[in-house]
Amino acid sequence: MKWEGNRESDNVEDRRGSGGGGGFGLGRGSIGIGTVVIALIGSAVFGVNPLTMLNLLSGGGGSPVVQQGPPQAGPANDRQTRFVRTVLADTEDVWGKLFAAKGATYQPPKLVIFSDATRTACGTGQSATGPFYCPADQDVYIDLSFYTLMQERFGVSGEFAQAYVIAHEIGHHVQNQLGISEKVHAARERSSERDANAMSVRLELQADCFAGVWAFHGNQARGILEQGDVASALKAASAIGDDALQRQARGTVVPDSFTHGSSEQRMRWFNKGLEAGQIEQCNTFETRQL
Ligand SMILES: [Zn+2]
Repeated sequence: MKWEGNRESDNVEDRRGSGGGGGFGLGRGSIGIGTVVIALIGSAVFGVNPLTMLNLLSGGGGSPVVQQGPPQAGPANDRQTRFVRTVLADTEDVWGKLFAAKGATYQPPKLVIFSDATRTACGTGQSATGPFYCPADQDVYIDLSFYTLMQERFGVSGEFAQAYVIAHEIGHHVQNQLGISEKVHAARERSSERDANAMSVRLELQADCFAGVWAFHGNQARGILEQGDVASALKAASAIGDDALQRQARGTVVPDSFTHGSSEQRMRWFNKGLEAGQIEQCNTFETRQL
């Protein structure tokens, strides 16, 4: 991916080095009943799988990236931080233009880089969860050690694959800005668990499609794509698909509990956005076949 020298965003908040818990002194890895209740309420409000939410709140059973001692040193101007700022700026430019073309104004989100754990309006964010978007404060959260995990556990490397991860979370912000998330959450409340879950999948696949839309326009404006980039993003979409994650976790796949969509679906919708570059192509809610 070609990005060096492009504009960097000012909307990145670097919370690394402010103490593992972002200065809030969090208890690490403890799941109390309070956490469970908050997870259930949170998942109802924000449409997140309760297990994911629980993971988010407790650090979960995964392999939490716990850092002891002084937080990861790193001048805030290292290559990876500049990369994140540049990708965020690119999404701001693309979505700003696309919204303006429709007579709307895009309000860019803040992207918070943290290590270990940090406070969010959706509860305590933990590295183990992977990057996420919190609709309540409209911020995107990422612990950059997730990129190492992507490479080590899923064999996904490449900067464009890393950019795709950010673009997906930005896709959730776009849904929020367009009022889609709100409608979906209202509809989920009136639905059975099964239907609610199916709606979450559509929301996730649409975020993938929006990531593709971003890549299309970023490439048109700034020529960011290099050979092999799309393949690496597709590999990321495939590796982080719920079926792949579930298979890794317990050896079987349970389609009804999917919240992100299958690997194949994720790749298809990312591609769809990437090929057409149009928001209209991302209507995952009115398609029969995901
Ligand atoms: Zn998502």
